[in-house]
Amino acid sequence: MSALADVRQREMELLLALRASNESKLLPADNSSALTVCLCQKAPSGAMVQCELCRDIFHRDCVTTAAELEYGQAWLCPLCQRSRKPPLDKVLPLLASLQRIRVRLPEGDALRFLIERTVRWQHKVQQACTDGLLERVATTGKLGPKTSSYLTQEINGSFHTKHLSIPLQALGPELEELMVEGFLLQVTLPETEQLYRYLLYKLAPPSSHNSPSRNGAEQSDEGSPPTHNNGA
Ligand SMILES: [Zn+2]
Ligand SMILES: [Zn+2]
Repeated sequence: MSALADVRQREMELLLALRASNESKLLPADNSSALTVCLCQKAPSGAMVQCELCRDIFHRDCVTTAAELEYGQAWLCPLCQRSRKPPLDKVLPLLASLQRIRVRLPEGDALRFLIERTVRWQHKVQQACTDGLLERVATTGKLGPKTSSYLTQEINGSFHTKHLSIPLQALGPELEELMVEGFLLQVTLPETEQLYRYLLYKLAPPSSHNSPSRNGAEQSDEGSPPTHNNGA
């Protein structure tokens, strides 16, 4: 059991490092043509989409159809997408039936671990709600760098991203890990999508048109500011 926990911990560390490294590709650079991204391993150009899990960018034409790119819907690249995940209520009876078998199967351990991890994660999300961690992101997030206009984010002269992803600079390490773990869970939970949408709406709200109903409609002093990269 603890071996599985170690593997998970390692997976999370690697993934967070990968995310940071991929995210840095979005920083304005003089030589973005030297960069290779996407399944095709070419330089970024034109319309790109960013994976919400590994944070790498992909040519839109290489990976998606327009229908997949909807604001409020997390987009995961083909490498991060796993097979369709079963909902938790399909998995629990499976565990129960495994427990009725006397023989101890490794699959049973894996399944129990999966469920424990899932429940722990749900607790952490609830905790984040009750102790105000999620509330605070709304206010700290506003101080973070302004990133986006609706759906299109100009990165530098040569490419831009379609489809907003959660701006990491404003997220903070705790919530980032919580969100990543949610995507990694091997079951489908409503909380994953709720957390994603909450963070997205708070940190990268769509501009005036198509705005989701938000409580506390705060006065925004700007419509949608042009992206402005302060390259030092
Ligand atoms: Zn490509
Ligand atoms: Zn990915």
